[in-house]
Amino acid sequence: MKKIFFTPGPSQLYPSVPLHIKNALKENIASISHRSKKFEEIFFHASSGIKKLLNIPESYHIFFVSSGTEAMERVIQNCVENNSYHFVNGSFSNRFFETAKELGKKPQKVEVSFGEGFDFKKINIPPETELICLTHNETSSGVMTPVAEITKLSKTNPNKLIAVDIVSSVPFVDLDYSLLDVVFFSVQKGFGLPAGLGVLIVSPRAIKKSQQLVNKGVSIGSYHSFLSLLQFAEKNQTPETPPVLEMYLLGKIIADMITIGIEKIRNQTEQKAKLIYNFFDSHSLFSPFVNDIQTRSQTVITVNVDTKQQEIRKYLEQKGYIVGTGYGKYKETQIRIANFPTHSLSDIKGLITKLKTKGK
Ligand SMILES: *Cc1c(COP(=O)(O)O)cnc(C)c1O
Repeated sequence: MKKIFFTPGPSQLYPSVPLHIKNALKENIASISHRSKKFEEIFFHASSGIKKLLNIPESYHIFFVSSGTEAMERVIQNCVENNSYHFVNGSFSNRFFETAKELGKKPQKVEVSFGEGFDFKKINIPPETELICLTHNETSSGVMTPVAEITKLSKTNPNKLIAVDIVSSVPFVDLDYSLLDVVFFSVQKGFGLPAGLGVLIVSPRAIKKSQQLVNKGVSIGSYHSFLSLLQFAEKNQTPETPPVLEMYLLGKIIADMITIGIEKIRNQTEQKAKLIYNFFDSHSLFSPFVNDIQTRSQTVITVNVDTKQQEIRKYLEQKGYIVGTGYGKYKETQIRIANFPTHSLSDIKGLITKLKTKGK
């Protein structure tokens, strides 16, 4: 039976992925040298596509790493000598904070409970902060930080670098990149690709900071330091042998999305999220976990289902719909439904219809 994965990553493959894989095999993409002209074209197709789709300034750099988690480590190593400041409201934002600790920095944080957003009016960023770290969409709880708050934060802290994790909200999230320094994602969520590739979007200011760290004798890592990545990216290459097939596929999916139009993709995401939230808001047993409508994620919808979780997931699976479990201590009592560009309006309607019939 055909299955649709509504899991928040890995998720359902984007519909055109099988065709692109077939073409990649025909073109021997997995065998070509990563120092060849052909590879440089693949690199450029992917990096210029990312800039075009997301409206990133031309002066910014696109680097390829292996995952979102790796990106966190590279960001801390390359932008922080001592002091990062973290907005923590779930497991992924906490990983970002812990990464800084494990690298021997002195991170500080503001922390709110799982399922909550931040009260930005109350937050004072310590003056010694070098880098502010935010997770735009906390995938573990389904809380999305309003972009307007990120913009304000950047404008009120012009001398601090800002890093934003958009792993589970790309390409939906519409950011003003000129106000940000490092933004990163991996490809197995919003782009509907197999896991194994991470992308860093890096400002000239962030590059300057890593150079300053080097000048001070601070380690910024080795082959995936910003400076090493930059040296190779300038030739449309990577320091190591990268996942060439993944980079090829990312370039192709992005071209497909550019053809559809990012505005349309974003509008459809909101339309689908509304259907899901409306359904659970009026459900007799289940309810959306995030109460504050302003911070409800548009891309990962978290639902309290209490003792019915296993039953619901099993029932949906029999109908071909795979939804995610809750995260951490909510693993057994919540479900998470991904709403990525790969999930069509009719997929979402199908899922809701199955849940309706189940209730009867
Ligand atoms: C999944 C996820 C990550 C980790 O990405 P990987 O590619 O699995 O390392 C980081 N941040 C957020 C918000 C995520 O959803």
